Amino acid sequence: MADLDLDQFRLDVRQWLSDNCPPSQRQPITREEQVWAGRNMQFPSEDAKLWFERMRDRGWTVPDWPAELGGGGLNEQQSKILRDEMKQLGCRTPLYDIGIWMLGPAVLEFGTEEQKREHIPRIARGEVRWCQGYSEPSAGSDLASLRTRAEDCGDHFLVNGSKIWTTNADKSDWIFCLVRTDPDAKKQEGISFLLIDMADPGITTSPIELISGESEFCQTFFDNVKVPKRNLIGELNQGWSVAKALLRHERKLMAEIGGDTPGPSFGPVQAALHYVGCDASGKLRDPALREQLVRHEMAYRAVGLTHFRTFEERISGQTDSNVPLIMKYVGTEEGKRKDELLVALLGFQGLGWEGDGFNSDELLTTRGWLFSKALSIAGGSSEVQLNIIAKRVLGLPQQ
Ligand SMILES: Cc1cc2nc3c(=O)[nH]c(=O)nc-3n(C[C@H](O)[C@H](O)[C@H](O)COP(=O)(O)OP(=O)(O)OC[C@H]3O[C@@H](n4cnc5c(N)ncnc54)[C@H](O)[C@@H]3O)c2cc1C
Repeated sequence: MADLDLDQFRLDVRQWLSDNCPPSQRQPITREEQVWAGRNMQFPSEDAKLWFERMRDRGWTVPDWPAELGGGGLNEQQSKILRDEMKQLGCRTPLYDIGIWMLGPAVLEFGTEEQKREHIPRIARGEVRWCQGYSEPSAGSDLASLRTRAEDCGDHFLVNGSKIWTTNADKSDWIFCLVRTDPDAKKQEGISFLLIDMADPGITTSPIELISGESEFCQTFFDNVKVPKRNLIGELNQGWSVAKALLRHERKLMAEIGGDTPGPSFGPVQAALHYVGCDASGKLRDPALREQLVRHEMAYRAVGLTHFRTFEERISGQTDSNVPLIMKYVGTEEGKRKDELLVALLGFQGLGWEGDGFNSDELLTTRGWLFSKALSIAGGSSEVQLNIIAKRVLGLPQQ
């Protein structure tokens, strides 16, 4: 698309957002205000519903998916303009679902036409909430050791086993799962990728509590669950390729998530000015914190600029599958450092759990700090990312 057309597109998007995004949907979002997809979708307010419906009807819950499947049909540059303009105006994400972030792109790449028609529009319209069934009690970093079994029974598979750390399994409608379909093949070669309806008989979930006080994880059990063969994505025993492609989307998401998770309304600079204060020369009073703050601001900007550079490279056809890997590591580690810094800047006010002595931003700081520890584990731990980068990107020897 020519630059002039893109300029016009930007103006149109800006106008449309300004006409259609209710003012209440231009405020920073809290966890409770997020609108999650699902059969029993719930809205925290009438405005949130209106905003979701307007974005859905335009296909902008999934702007770069094909228009005939419920998406916005935008190209990569147009999608970025939409994201930028939404950010500029402070518009909230209208719909949350890992179907949008992870499964949808994998179905678009590996699914049959029938599978795309069945699942993609429902994800775009927020009608189904998805969860991810990869990890198992003895298969996390070493995912290919998974043991959940799917036995070929003619017109269906019979699934038995259990998954762990399944985020929001108890609230989800469907799960995408890695299962072992050939126990005799080499580890990665006997795995298939299945879509399973959580309402099917034989599936149960058991919540696991987190240090942040929430309980968003579950262990998910499969006891003789019948799964129709048409729910197999990709070839039988070739699920590892689908799994890897999906992990690339997950890592891209994890790299960007640090900036999009609900948190306090202030960033480190505002927190420093408010909680630490400046001396007579206008410098931040605590020199150690000043140095940490500057380091963080530089790193954050460098991460942002690198995201921008890789986007530009992609547009010009230079895709590098190693980039999400590196950005996942760098983005989540810097996200953790940001939360450490916020807690340090707030002092005792950054260590509140509940009660009148703390305002809501301070409580969000504590909980965000605890939650951020999970970001460098989810989607592949930092240590494992470093191993892969050392081997695949830098070509270092095993020892
Ligand atoms: C917030 C969050 C959400 C998640 N959501 C989901 C979900 O929805 N669905 C799902 O399937 N899974 C989910 N997970 C699980 C996640 O994918 C696993 O936690 C992750 O892959 C690590 O596996 P593990 O927990 O079994 O740790 P392990 O693999 O047991 O690792 C334990 C420790 O050993 C280190 N380690 C392991 N192997 C090596 C190695 N070769 N070299 C160096 N160090 C190593 C790891 O870095 C880690 O520090 C989620 C995790 C988190 C934190």
